Amino acid sequence: MSRFLSGKFDKLAPYVPGEQPQDRKYIKLNTNESPYPPSPKVLEALSTSECLRLNLYSDPKADMLVRQIAQYYSVDPQNVFVGNGSDEVLAFAFYAFCDSDRGMSFPDITYGFFPVYCNMFGIKYEQIKLGEDFSINAEDYLTDSKNNVTIANPNAQTGVFLDIYDVEKIVAHSADRIVIIDEAYVDLGGVSAVSLTEKYDNLIVVGTLSKSRSLAGGRVGFAIANEKIIADLNIMKYSFNPYNINRLSIVAASAAFADVEYFKSITNSIIKNREYLVVELEKRGFIMPLSMANFVLAKTEKLGGQALYERLRDKGILVRHFKDARIADYIRITVGRREQIDSLLAAIDDILA
Ligand code: PMP
Repeated sequence: MSRFLSGKFDKLAPYVPGEQPQDRKYIKLNTNESPYPPSPKVLEALSTSECLRLNLYSDPKADMLVRQIAQYYSVDPQNVFVGNGSDEVLAFAFYAFCDSDRGMSFPDITYGFFPVYCNMFGIKYEQIKLGEDFSINAEDYLTDSKNNVTIANPNAQTGVFLDIYDVEKIVAHSADRIVIIDEAYVDLGGVSAVSLTEKYDNLIVVGTLSKSRSLAGGRVGFAIANEKIIADLNIMKYSFNPYNINRLSIVAASAAFADVEYFKSITNSIIKNREYLVVELEKRGFIMPLSMANFVLAKTEKLGGQALYERLRDKGILVRHFKDARIADYIRITVGRREQIDSLLAAIDDILA
């Protein structure tokens, strides 16, 4: 840290992303990317003529993409906001709707960025304990607290899905607080809360193209909400980075959203692969919460999480290990292609033999 960094960031602990080795040496099952390439329509759309327009700024409204997303979810374009990954969308939402008076509540085990945003923006936060089985208990959020609420659904790190009726209970409990439902993983077996945004003006549903649409490197996320909320998010964006989505990503993301058939086929494959992975891990004595995401959180009595992570890494397989006490015994495994899963299982058999 230089001596110039503002004192307000003295204690800021930044988010630590999973390893992103650039040498392709590893079977990469650590950062919940899709194991499949983007739709062929994305490749077609990224034409030479599009690249030749890179001298021009991108459309600040990202109109083409906003319309495509609106059409997919049967909402109006004024109900859609797009950002540079859902990370940026979440950051704008935290910044716009919280402050030192109006805090944020979220589960104790969830996406690691939530507390980081709070610390960065001076937002006080409360971490609400998940059940022993990692379930989110809706009743825990039906309190008098003035805090806004953010829930990743399915939840990050656990994959556990909160029933849509429980989501509605939390949203309906108080019209005076914002509820953000981060649906990064919803397309892998969950049910989206987008339909509730018509009824509740305090609900923001956040999505991403990084998982089910194979565009993590394109950095595109979105929010769907009441048009006044979307206008607020646009105030954030136009006060920070109006051209937040680059020209090529707008084109790529629009093409990805238009190719519903490809989307269905890869999400079905990931769900099938997850079922296979779960069955095979269970045969080997692993236990894990029921995941509706593109990853599983698994542990074995035979070896601790940190050791298993390291031994797999030595064998060229990257998974994720978190040091949080409640999940330190576990490893988080991204659902890969079938042959990647088979390599993982062979490595696990070797290590645990
Ligand atoms: N929310 C959750 C729950 C996530 O796990 C992730 C991915 N790490 C994100 C949001 C951010 O995704 P992106 O910025 O790639 O859209």
